[in-house]
Amino acid sequence: MRAVQYDQFGSAPSIVDLPDPVAPDHGVVVRVAATGVCRSDWHAWKGHDDSVALPHVPGHEFAGVVTSVGDAVTRVSVGDRVTAPFVFACGTCPECVDGATQVCTRQQQPGFTLPGSHAESVVIPHADVNVVALPDAVGFAEAAALGCRFGTAYHALHARGRVAAGEWVVVFGCGGVGLSTIIVAVAAGAQVVAVDVSSAALERAAALGAVTVPMDRAAVAAVRTQTDGGAHVSIDAFGSRATSVAAVASLRPRGRHAGRPVARRRGRPGDPDGPRHRG
Ligand SMILES: [Zn+2]
Ligand SMILES: [Zn+2]
Repeated sequence: MRAVQYDQFGSAPSIVDLPDPVAPDHGVVVRVAATGVCRSDWHAWKGHDDSVALPHVPGHEFAGVVTSVGDAVTRVSVGDRVTAPFVFACGTCPECVDGATQVCTRQQQPGFTLPGSHAESVVIPHADVNVVALPDAVGFAEAAALGCRFGTAYHALHARGRVAAGEWVVVFGCGGVGLSTIIVAVAAGAQVVAVDVSSAALERAAALGAVTVPMDRAAVAAVRTQTDGGAHVSIDAFGSRATSVAAVASLRPRGRHAGRPVARRRGRPGDPDGPRHRG
């Protein structure tokens, strides 16, 4: 199969011919129909991620069609249209048994610990746990966008934030995760305030239905005024000390917060390295 591969961190990737992947007993092979490019792919390429071994095939956001199935798989068939979250869970560790597959202690990740989806085919291990069937109405490109930032946003708002219709949600940072959070919040019937330093990002947030507030010293006061005393749920979708503190300070009493861990710089000197998070 053809695949995108790089031999050194930061070097130009090339198109190479690799052996076709073989499904493990518990896994499937998917012919990739659509795949995304994420900031985390950039971090892997720059060498910021210890789990990436060279040479490397990137890509962790994908959808496609199952072309082969391991003997132990019971829930997935050849020809199925599928996607998967970017965390491939084991299905048997205590976290998985508890339903928290996103923090599986034996997790693998395509495009990081495994060959990724910037290739004609990709393997999904433990397919009965990880494969998500696509309804016919969901296209491959749309599905490829779901397993990374949308899954993160959905879990933050619903599992951690317990968002309810009519509540105020404030979102700090309107990049991929932040804009996904706005879409999920609006779909839940919440009212959204979006905060960012970039007017272009705020324009996108407004187009999705958010009230916008520029990120500056007055941001917290503006959010508290807009939400009549503070948001019910605050999401730090950026991950800096400033956004983390402001997001918590924007809550009303008994509000709920979910955020990205504050980034630690791990890049080489001179890298224009922002927050570093996989996914
Ligand atoms: Zn597990
Ligand atoms: Zn991603």
